[in-house]
Amino acid sequence: MTATYITTTIPYVNARPHIGHALELVQADVLARHRRGRGEAVRFGAGTDDNSLKNVLAAKAAGVGVQEFVDRNAEAFEALGGALSLTVDAFIRTSRDPRHRPGVERFWRACSHDLYRTRYEGLYCTGCEQFYTPAELPGGRCPEHDTVPEQVSEENWFFRLSRYAGPLREAISAGRLRIEPAGRRNEVLAFIGSGLADFSVSRPATRAGGWGIPVPGDPGQVIYVWFDALCNYLTALDYGSGGAAYERWWAGAGNRVHLLGKGVLRFHAVYWPAMLLSAGLPLPTGIFVHDYLTAGGRKISKSAAGAAAFEPAALAAGYGADAVRWWLLREVPLVGDADFTVERLIARSDDELANGLGNLVNRVVAMICRYRDGRVPALGPVPPGGEDLDAAIRQAGDRVGAALDEFDFRRATAAAWAIADEANRFISRARPWTLPASDRGQLDAVLHLLIRACSALGRELAPFLPDAAARITRQCTPRDGRLPAPSPVFRRLAPRAASPGPPARVPAESGTAG
Ligand SMILES: [Zn+2]
Repeated sequence: MTATYITTTIPYVNARPHIGHALELVQADVLARHRRGRGEAVRFGAGTDDNSLKNVLAAKAAGVGVQEFVDRNAEAFEALGGALSLTVDAFIRTSRDPRHRPGVERFWRACSHDLYRTRYEGLYCTGCEQFYTPAELPGGRCPEHDTVPEQVSEENWFFRLSRYAGPLREAISAGRLRIEPAGRRNEVLAFIGSGLADFSVSRPATRAGGWGIPVPGDPGQVIYVWFDALCNYLTALDYGSGGAAYERWWAGAGNRVHLLGKGVLRFHAVYWPAMLLSAGLPLPTGIFVHDYLTAGGRKISKSAAGAAAFEPAALAAGYGADAVRWWLLREVPLVGDADFTVERLIARSDDELANGLGNLVNRVVAMICRYRDGRVPALGPVPPGGEDLDAAIRQAGDRVGAALDEFDFRRATAAAWAIADEANRFISRARPWTLPASDRGQLDAVLHLLIRACSALGRELAPFLPDAAARITRQCTPRDGRLPAPSPVFRRLAPRAASPGPPARVPAESGTAG
């Protein structure tokens, strides 16, 4: 059985999570669910980066102790698992997990032949926790944070990245380390081609406020947070003690897939693989890079005023996990930023989930209950005019799989959605309610094809809309020979006489039966 290890990046916990974090978690969850459905053994790892200097600064600003502050925010991230129906297998917190520090120390020692200490001067963005060269700072400001980096001069440990340009280029070009989409692969190859400079992997403990993991054998230095954080992919597998999880999910044959945002591409596609090569460990097999979400046309910032409106747990509580997932999967393109608004979430959910899908399932089940007393007609020939729907049902699985293999979530949802579109078209054409109920052959064939379509939707949508798909499957599965009485699988989110703007609270109206 193929073993697939899927990870999200572990975010800083200097604030509560926003909708941008939900994107990556939901994408990873879809891949995990889909591959489990194909019979692969999957481990889905997520977590939080607790050891960031940003957390220290944010805790100070909030007047709270660092651990208390970190704990509070990290719990909000962990709670997204339940709120968004995620199947996270292991959630690692780098300040709390007893496996993390020994694993980082072991990894550091494994790289020690590439580590050296030297004085360094550079421009450092605290927001990014990264040194920049002047050429990387348009107008002298950090491109991520639009702030002026501080000039820092200090003794640090350095990693001999320059040694790994050749092996990295080779692994990426040969596809052993696959980077998607292709534009990001080209970006990484160009960066490697421009020459790799050694990079700093520690900082003085004094500047870190005593937070972080001390360098083994040099307690005046703490391990640079990026080095520490990247190790989570291994320490969550108990790499520190070289246990069975590490052997199964990383050292063994199989897939090792990282999902990440474009802002941390270099760390994951250059620094991390070089560190792994240095330590003599296998590389990830795949890196998928997503772009960013904006909200109302503006960059989402965890600390910005109004950020609470974009908290994924609150959105899921108000509108349902399926509606939030569906917007993220259906509207965010493979390449390019996407703009989130609550109005769009509601419109997408009502239009497709309530009206398109909910109505379809409801009508089909209602017809079988009315015309056939809830008994699903036996399999017969595809009725005239049902060929496109039959084809959509048969092709959906392969198309969803092909799209997800390329991390194209929008194309994957469209492939599943084609069944709903074709089924609704078929109903309009076949007009089953005009067929005499006594015409067993024709009506049975129509109803059978339609319930097959609904069952297929329950199956194919399961990775994307796990809660709704379960409701659909329940609705399409006979109990004691009969389908359960039709009940809505989605509620409408907007009041029918919609007023502009998002509702102040969860709309009470429900019901999708058309
Ligand atoms: Zn920055």
